[in-house]
Amino acid sequence: MLVIMDARATPEQCEAVEQAIVSHGFRAIPVPGENRMAICVVGNRDQVPQQTFVHMPGVKDCIQVTRPYKLVSREVRAEDSIVEVGGVAIGGSTPVIMAGPCSVETEARTLAIAVAAKAAGAEVFRAGAYKPRTNPYSFQGLGEEGLHSLSKVREETGMPVVSEIVDVNDIDLMLKHVDILQVGTRNMANYSLLKRLGEVGCPILLKRGLSATFSEWLQAAEYLLAAGNEKVILCERGIRTYSNHSRNTLDLNVVPLARERTHLPVVVDPSHGVGDSSRVRAMSRAAMACGAQGLLLEVHTDPSTAYSDGQQTVDMDTLQGILRDRETLSMLAD
Ligand code: PEP
Ligand code: MN
Repeated sequence: MLVIMDARATPEQCEAVEQAIVSHGFRAIPVPGENRMAICVVGNRDQVPQQTFVHMPGVKDCIQVTRPYKLVSREVRAEDSIVEVGGVAIGGSTPVIMAGPCSVETEARTLAIAVAAKAAGAEVFRAGAYKPRTNPYSFQGLGEEGLHSLSKVREETGMPVVSEIVDVNDIDLMLKHVDILQVGTRNMANYSLLKRLGEVGCPILLKRGLSATFSEWLQAAEYLLAAGNEKVILCERGIRTYSNHSRNTLDLNVVPLARERTHLPVVVDPSHGVGDSSRVRAMSRAAMACGAQGLLLEVHTDPSTAYSDGQQTVDMDTLQGILRDRETLSMLAD
C-alpha cells in the first residue's frame, strides 16, 4: 500500500505515519516527489487495512498497489527519475549515448576508441573489464588491469564510464574506477548481488534477463530500490525467442510499457539485441523513436579487430549517423 501525504503535510506528520506503519509490523519507505511525499508500505503479506492510516493527520489518500513492484512504479513517483552521472543526466528527453567496445582492450586502444566516441558525440563510455562469456575458453576480460584503463579514460576524456560487475567481491575495487555498474543479462536474477548493489551509492544499469518477463525485470529493479539505491537505469537488450534470424529478439514493445509503468530511466542496447552491426543503426533509431532515454552501443575504431562481439560492433561513421538520427528525431518530439 501507498500512503499519499497532503502537499502541506509537516515532517512530524510524515514521521508519525512512518511510525504507525512500523508499529503494525511493516516497513515504511518514504519517497519524496516534486509535489508530495508518498510513503510505501512494504513487507506485508496480506493487504494493509486502509482505515489504519487514512484518518491520520496530513494523510491525503491510501492506494493499494496490487503489482509486485512498488518503489519503481509510477504510482509511487509520478515524475521521471533522472540519474545524474559525471555531469550527464540519464532519464530526460534527450537519449544519452553510451558507447565503447564490448571489452576493455589495451590502454592505448581503449583510449583511442574513447576519444573517437567522444568526438562523435557519445556522452558515456562503455567497456567490460570482466566478461561473462558463454564459453570458458573465450576471452574473459582484462580484469583489474582493464579497470585502470577505464580510470584513464575518465581522466583523459572526462566521460563517465559504465562497466559490468559479475562478482560481489569486486564491488569495492570497481567503485574506484567506474561511474555506473552494469548488471548483465545473466545476473539480472542474482538476488544476492542485487541486494549488495542496493547498498552502494553508485548508479546501476540493470539489463533485462534474457528470459525475463517485464514483471520479473521490474522486480529485480525493486530489489535495488528496496535496499536503498534509487539510481537505477533499466536496459532492454533483447530476449531469447524461437526466432533465430538475429542473436536476440530486441523487444522494443517493452520500452513504452516501461515508460508508462515506471519512473526509472529506460535505455536500449541494440548491439546485443540484434547481434549484427549492419542492423544496429536502424534499431537504434527505432529505440529512440519509441521512447528510449539512452542507447548502449558497442563501437570500435576497427570493429574487425575487437576482442569480443566484433560482429555486432559498429564503426565511428555509424556512431556519427546514430547521433545525426538523434538530432533528427528530437525535432519530432512533442
Ligand atoms: C555486454 O554489454 O557486453 C554484455 C555482456 O551484455 P549482456 O549482459 O546484455 O549480454
Ligand atoms: Mn558485448
